[in-house]
Amino acid sequence: MSKFSRMNAIQSIAEIRDAAPLTAAPADIDFYGEDVFNDKVIHKYLSKPMAEKLLSTMRGERPFEASIAPAVAHAMKEWAMSRGATHFTHWFQPLTGGTAEKHDAFLEYDKAGNPMMELSGMSLIVGEPDASSFPSGGLRSTFEARGYTAWDPTSPAFIKRHANGATLCIPTAFCSYTGEVLDRKTPVLRSIQALGKSVSRLMACFGQSPKHTRVTMGPEQEYFLVDKEFYYQRPDLVQTGRTLFGAAPAKHQQLEDHYFGAIKPRILAFMNEVEDELWRLGIPAKTRHNEVAPSQFELAPIFEELNLAIDHNMLTMQILREVAEHHGLVCLLHEKPYAGINGSGKHNNWSVTYGGKNLLDPGDTPQENAVFLTMLTAVIRAVNLHADLLRSATASAGNDHRLGANEAPPAILSIFLGEQLTDVIDALMDGKSKKDTQARQMVVGVDALPTLPRDATDRNRTSPFAFTGNKFEFRSVGSSQSCSDVNVVLNTIVAESLDYLSERLEKLPKAKFNSGLQALLKEVISANRRIIFNGDGYTAEWQKEAARRGLPNLRTTLDALKPLKDKKNQALFARYGVFIGKELDSRYEVFKDEYERKILIEGKVALKIARESIEPVVSAQLLALAKTVKTAKAIGMKAGVPALIKNVNRLGEYYSQLDEGIEVLAQAVEASEMSAIVEALAKLRVVVDTLECLTDDAQWPLPKYREMLFIY
Ligand code: ADP
Ligand code: MG
Repeated sequence: MSKFSRMNAIQSIAEIRDAAPLTAAPADIDFYGEDVFNDKVIHKYLSKPMAEKLLSTMRGERPFEASIAPAVAHAMKEWAMSRGATHFTHWFQPLTGGTAEKHDAFLEYDKAGNPMMELSGMSLIVGEPDASSFPSGGLRSTFEARGYTAWDPTSPAFIKRHANGATLCIPTAFCSYTGEVLDRKTPVLRSIQALGKSVSRLMACFGQSPKHTRVTMGPEQEYFLVDKEFYYQRPDLVQTGRTLFGAAPAKHQQLEDHYFGAIKPRILAFMNEVEDELWRLGIPAKTRHNEVAPSQFELAPIFEELNLAIDHNMLTMQILREVAEHHGLVCLLHEKPYAGINGSGKHNNWSVTYGGKNLLDPGDTPQENAVFLTMLTAVIRAVNLHADLLRSATASAGNDHRLGANEAPPAILSIFLGEQLTDVIDALMDGKSKKDTQARQMVVGVDALPTLPRDATDRNRTSPFAFTGNKFEFRSVGSSQSCSDVNVVLNTIVAESLDYLSERLEKLPKAKFNSGLQALLKEVISANRRIIFNGDGYTAEWQKEAARRGLPNLRTTLDALKPLKDKKNQALFARYGVFIGKELDSRYEVFKDEYERKILIEGKVALKIARESIEPVVSAQLLALAKTVKTAKAIGMKAGVPALIKNVNRLGEYYSQLDEGIEVLAQAVEASEMSAIVEALAKLRVVVDTLECLTDDAQWPLPKYREMLFIY
């Protein structure tokens, strides 16, 4: 690498010319979902009765009938081949955090030995990838390494294209030989089922006949883009996903001129290609905009059924990365690629419908309001009782830089209800509504709620868990994380609270239902009220107040994972059939391991950069300065010499600190001591970042923040 490669990078980026804008061509969305094995395709390739059977399974209305597997597999293959696919893969979500695929060609021999293209019913339903290298947290010993993938018909098969070909992807769950979960999809499916049962039970209390429960989710995805030229010159970005060093630029996000700003043409070209790919896959990308930090952006889809929404978000992250490459960019999904400016999260918008009606929508009739208030109460109780579990579901090395650092949202879980809804709750509790001049108690099952304008409820950006009109928005999820874990927790703990309420309601005589419900909601809300907080979640006062309320504040991953080991929590998940036996223990092991490996890698990468790139540049400058002093003295120079000596000494001082910092980090890495590595790396960073500002700019080996964040 030439020492001027930073300058070369800047020059080649400066030479990029935006493509000419599209001249008016009629936009159409005929291609929407063309790479998905959807209703239209199913009706085209399967007989009507078979299509109906498959579609009702896909809607989650009835279990899959194995007898139709061969016909479905054949139809899928025919369709996939018509779209250029030669291979198929079981697409699954192991605990590595990403997705996994192992491709097989459709190629088989017929009885006469002639090649043919086939997909059998069996190959559709189960697969057996060599799974020995996926994390299992001790669930699978290496001598019994088999893992199985099982088709998930509720998430439609799709086609992934690449240069020269395409692959049919079949969404699957992944479990061990003995049936224990090894993935992120299985628990989602289990938790949806559990919540469905509890919702039906509650609705029966309100006299409703059994209907289909649907959990819906819309994830808002934040990400950064950086030019490839800079990216490849940053070994820390390449290896850890974040910059381990880098001094703050004079201008970063102070002027707030990036948020919702005009999107640069180069970025829009990228976004359009992303949306094109997503729409082809039936992923309803809807919103795009610049985010708060420079070179940070957001993409939000229209919400969908939870299992599908999670699969789609996993695909979206992959497509963001792939398409960025086409544009000479790299998409950074890490929670904190740059220190000192906003990190990236994923807002998890969650709601539940019953027979098509959103239960978190207040509604117009007293009956609908009663259901709404009961759901709301269940969520309040669930989050209060299990805030630690929700926190654990967002724990990761990357997310530690957001939660628990000085950034939104805080590690303390609390619920934001907004002024109007808080007012309703107040009136329900004790008749102390702020709005009413005369104190008046709200009577459930009689009063209709005031209409809550959706916008007015969502002005608090500091709350980790906010009610936003007709859904809850959980904002602690990290940008690179799967949404699976948080929704598994959310579904399970809400199911538990619904059952708690149902059990009480079932005992009420019919004539006393409304008054009994009123008393119950009052009791449960007052017992769990400490979790509601409408103020600023960033402040030191809230930290104190939260401690006074006894709310957990688990700042680091290792602390936040501990609730997974708690017997009470394990019993809860077992009761709902979400994690059984050793499954939760195994996840604790996997996540802890992942955290420790990541921290260790960061420590090692930082050491390499500091020793191999930073130290030589600083010592060379020190030597050059020392020589200058010597020459200056030799020629009898007077002015300037004291300043030169002062600068040599100042640089020498930081050089010693650099040397010490490297030594301390090396020892921490050697000892594999996590908190020591985190601390030593943070200290070393301060020294390196200071040196960045004291060293000849032309010699500095790493692209700087002012370049990476602004030149693209
Ligand atoms: P913002 O939170 O930025 O104000 P919106 O409220 O419009 O944006 O929506 C954010 C996300 O919430 C979108 O993905 C949207 O589809 C999703 N969403 C809206 N309604 C629901 C719902 N009932 N259930 C789940 N997600 C929803
Ligand atoms: Mg939002």
